[in-house]
Amino acid sequence: MLPVWPSLSWWRIFPFWRCPVNQGNYGCEITSFVPAYCYVPGRVRGKVLSMSHPPLTESQRLALLQAARHAHQQAYAPYSKFRVGAAVLDDQGRIHAGCNVENAAYPEGVCAEASALSAMVLAGSTRAHAVLVVGSGGNSAGGWITPCGGCRQKLREFCAPDTPILTANEHALGPQHTLQSLLPDGFGPDHLGKP
Ligand SMILES: [Zn+2]
Repeated sequence: MLPVWPSLSWWRIFPFWRCPVNQGNYGCEITSFVPAYCYVPGRVRGKVLSMSHPPLTESQRLALLQAARHAHQQAYAPYSKFRVGAAVLDDQGRIHAGCNVENAAYPEGVCAEASALSAMVLAGSTRAHAVLVVGSGGNSAGGWITPCGGCRQKLREFCAPDTPILTANEHALGPQHTLQSLLPDGFGPDHLGKP
């Protein structure tokens, strides 16, 4: 039976229902038969929804990579020697970067993703449209880097389920994830009634 509020897949099946704002280039989580609803963030029928994101442009991807690689070089990791850089693209098209900062009291260290998110919030944005994390790996040295569990939860605060989480090492881009794939059914602001 056709649902009253079609899911994203329905938009793909019936492209003439696609959002007129995004020109059909990408879907919105907020979907309805009334196009106006599809770009109005907020609650629809009790379900907290947020806007999906347009695909990353090549220049945005490159800018994220450059920012994260620079942060990677600046990392303070005298104990683990595992440098990490992260860059976040916010909803205003700005990029914020952060690096891991270790501490002699090990638990007091800060992850790169947390640093980048702090920079984004400080700049006045609370919505991340894409994240890129750089760290060693992805070759014979080991698997590709991914955000740690704690950072996945921190990202949950500011990302939509389909927010792309890109990975890279010093030489190449790695696998691309989404927040949903890294943290399925995660607890977030919507559980506390915040849109
Ligand atoms: Zn982390």
